Amino acid sequence: MNLPDKVDVVEVCPRDGFQIVKDFIRTEDKIEIIKKVIDAGVKYIEITSYVHPKWVPQMADAGDVVDEVKGYAKGKEAELIALVPNKFGALKAFEAGLDWVTYVVSASESHNMKNINRTIEQSFAELEEICREKTDTRIRLAIATAFGCPFGEEVPVERVIDMAKRGLELGAGKIVLADTIGIANPVQVRSIITKVSKKINIDMLGVHLHDTRGMGLANTYVAVTEGIRYFESAAGGLGGCPFAPGAAGNIATEDMLNMFHSMGVKTGVDMDGIFEAVSLIREKVNSPVVSHMAKVYNI
Ligand code: ZN
Repeated sequence: MNLPDKVDVVEVCPRDGFQIVKDFIRTEDKIEIIKKVIDAGVKYIEITSYVHPKWVPQMADAGDVVDEVKGYAKGKEAELIALVPNKFGALKAFEAGLDWVTYVVSASESHNMKNINRTIEQSFAELEEICREKTDTRIRLAIATAFGCPFGEEVPVERVIDMAKRGLELGAGKIVLADTIGIANPVQVRSIITKVSKKINIDMLGVHLHDTRGMGLANTYVAVTEGIRYFESAAGGLGGCPFAPGAAGNIATEDMLNMFHSMGVKTGVDMDGIFEAVSLIREKVNSPVVSHMAKVYNI
């Protein structure tokens, strides 16, 4: 069995989780939750997105969140990430001095069109422009719907491989394969990761798996045994994709930590610290906490 000593966890609740919460979460509450996550020892945290407030009103305070959290994270190990939908957002993130930006392109034409109103080609043209402007901020290319599309379009693994290659050639520092609608199964995850990692250095790959149909941890387990060491999850199991019909349910960070820790795989993240973040989320955010561990320990 190919289990590593350690994996990296990327906390995405403050972006992926919060973005679909209808009631505006106060900026100071967002910041407090993010600080808890930093204190828990999470190395990578996606803290916001520089998206137009007309599309995602919840992220209208991106600038304030970044300013405050950047100050707090100074001298700590945490690397801060913001999602950017376009060059405009990317330039803002570069200016703010974030460690990483996430740029999303969907492997399904129809989903890319619906999600960001562009063809895949147009998305890559913009990524090329973004990479040209790049400062010290590094780029994560997230390939959405890499395991299946909500509109029935077939997503060939060759396309995923091509997109990943192209991203790396343009200068991306990480490629994240996302199961945007939570449709992947363990056999498929094994097959896709095996094929992709034949062409792409596996150290450059990460996964963003969903638990929509209850297969999140099974898929995570397969991914780690296939050599993936970079896993995204959301504290409290908040979030999903607002543009993919029926999609809900990031894997809860506390559930993922529990699996890794109980198998002897370190994450560097303190479970009690994440519990503190989850209880703050329960208190401050009008969205149900969906996790096994929160139930077991009555968080
Ligand atoms: Zn997600």
